[in-house]
Amino acid sequence: MERVFSEKRLEHQVPLFCILSRKVITMSRGLSFYEVEILAKTLLAEFAPPGWQFAWSNEKRVNGRCYYHLKTIKLSRHLTPLRTPEDVRVTIMHEICHSRVGPGKGHGPVWKAEMRRFGLPSNRCSQDAPDLSSISNWKGTCPKCGKVSYMMRRPRLERSCGICSPRKFNDAYLIQWKRI
Ligand SMILES: [Zn+2]
Ligand SMILES: [Zn+2]
Repeated sequence: MERVFSEKRLEHQVPLFCILSRKVITMSRGLSFYEVEILAKTLLAEFAPPGWQFAWSNEKRVNGRCYYHLKTIKLSRHLTPLRTPEDVRVTIMHEICHSRVGPGKGHGPVWKAEMRRFGLPSNRCSQDAPDLSSISNWKGTCPKCGKVSYMMRRPRLERSCGICSPRKFNDAYLIQWKRI
């Protein structure tokens, strides 16, 4: 990285991330985009399998998501700046734990065990998505990656998983709907 920022800025940044990557810190403001990127890259380098990257997403309802086929974790550019540094760190680690256990495990016991290894709250499964289960009638599950979605009504057209087949419909990843 080119040293385009001043020493003063660096002094401020480095200790912050050293602390953040290990444990809770309290800050009265949200992290800047720059700080989030450094934090995510630091945590990815340390804990994710080789080759995983960070990117921003435009999602407005989901804090973070793990894209196995892209080896990328994405955080919402809209929601992340509004959250506390600790919440952002937990979300990044949440997605990193997905990257470590691989697709198909969802928020099941394997993923939970991984979260516990890092001393993270494994009960917070709504961490990367708002909890819509209580206001929905239908639960859809991807047979491949286990991604769960909730709907008020069963969709009239069949859908395939947007994570396993992001750009086009693919009936190998047909969402299985169940009334709840
Ligand atoms: Zn998750
Ligand atoms: Zn899927």
